Amino acid sequence: MRYDVIVVGAGIVGTSIAWHLQKNNARVLLLDKKPPGEGTSYGNAGIITREAVNTKPFPRSVKEIFSVLPNNRTDIRYRWSALYGFQRPLFQYCQHSYAKNIEVIDKEWATLIEHCTNEHEPMIKAAGAEALVSKIGWIELHRHSIDFEKAISKAVKAAEQGVEYQVLSLVALQALEPNLNFTDYIGGIHWKNSWQIKNPSSLVKAYAKSFAAMAGEVKQVSVTDIMQTAEGWQVVCGDDTYVCQHVVIAAGPWSAELIKPLGYNIPMFPMRGYHQHFKITPKNALSHSLFDVDKGFVMGAMEQGIRVTTGAEMANLDAPKKFDQLEAVLTHARKLAPLEDAVEAEAWCGARPCMPDMKPVIGRASKHTNLWFAFGHAHQGLTLGPVTGRLIEEMIHNKPLFIDSKPFSSHRFTASF
Ligand SMILES: Cc1cc2nc3c(=O)[nH]c(=O)nc-3n(C[C@H](O)[C@H](O)[C@H](O)COP(=O)(O)OP(=O)(O)OC[C@H]3O[C@@H](n4cnc5c(N)ncnc54)[C@H](O)[C@@H]3O)c2cc1C
Repeated sequence: MRYDVIVVGAGIVGTSIAWHLQKNNARVLLLDKKPPGEGTSYGNAGIITREAVNTKPFPRSVKEIFSVLPNNRTDIRYRWSALYGFQRPLFQYCQHSYAKNIEVIDKEWATLIEHCTNEHEPMIKAAGAEALVSKIGWIELHRHSIDFEKAISKAVKAAEQGVEYQVLSLVALQALEPNLNFTDYIGGIHWKNSWQIKNPSSLVKAYAKSFAAMAGEVKQVSVTDIMQTAEGWQVVCGDDTYVCQHVVIAAGPWSAELIKPLGYNIPMFPMRGYHQHFKITPKNALSHSLFDVDKGFVMGAMEQGIRVTTGAEMANLDAPKKFDQLEAVLTHARKLAPLEDAVEAEAWCGARPCMPDMKPVIGRASKHTNLWFAFGHAHQGLTLGPVTGRLIEEMIHNKPLFIDSKPFSSHRFTASF
């Protein structure tokens, strides 16, 4: 069987691409070594972040950089091996984070974010996944007045870009979440038109089921080689080879390694994160996901229990798990709400696929025909999967694009390939 398109990676990004292509009459094969939604897309904080119109730059102030060095912050930790291994992309990340660069990057980035909920909506409907989605927004918690004031100023600007928010006093916070203890906080911002997903992995599975219902094919195999021939592309998975006209690489943090043999050396780096679930009880039940800005963790109610997710750990993709950052986070989370019975014996760990200029790569490869890249969505892959899916479908089918794709082109890294 010859496919029109093979998509490698059944995370939120690859599954959304496959869904859009199949819906638009392509014959699509979606490949993953695991079932859909079991990679990075399994364990995120589950927020479709309509409010995230700004990127996350590298810390610029000397004070902030020095505060990271002792390696005991809860929002960011590092391992020396990763700093050494990823020195090139991290240096580029630092350069792209100059204020004048961020201004341009944020404008480009916001063109993706503004469509995030609109693009999830038809997929959620087609997949019958409404029960997984809560549209009541989420809450950003603040401990310090200077940071809180800065965040409010940013919210005022974000509102010009369609973001809906409300500043919350302690009284208002307590009214929204009566079970929680807000004594360490001074207030919060309620991001009202962002959505919460109660099980991000199940959402990807629902999208994959919807894809399969349109006669799309999903196979659980590990891709070992990708080759271009005179007839098209061959995707090798152990003893089996699948043939197609177009290949899309959507393998999240594994994408860079996968395309190395094809001659691409892209400066991607992983930002790992952990989560653990705790049993929901009458004492800790909560309605909104909460993000403690200062300590860098998110706490939200999932189908599996209350999920506490950590900030970033700069570590190699396959480095053994280290639980000290999560333990430190849990000390703070337990002040907000009692978290007693852990659901799993061991915490989950995944890696955000990050690019030095904070923008994903969405578009055709620079050295091959009919090879497409869709990765590097960093902290917002759950949010941007469907937007990316629609863009790649429009590109492959040579349609007018609903977003200017130039800022996300892989060609921006051509000099470093
Ligand atoms: C702790 C944490 C919290 C987060 N919170 C949020 C959030 O609230 N909102 C948000 O929008 N984003 C969030 N993110 C980011 C988001 O989870 C990621 O950006 C997103 O999941 C990336 O999706 P993906 O499809 O690119 O990658 P993945 O989900 O990792 O999918 C890639 C797939 O490729 C497969 N694969 C790799 N190599 C091969 C191979 N050789 N053969 C076959 N298959 C292969 C993998 O098995 C995997 O399933 C968070 C991330 C973390 C870690």
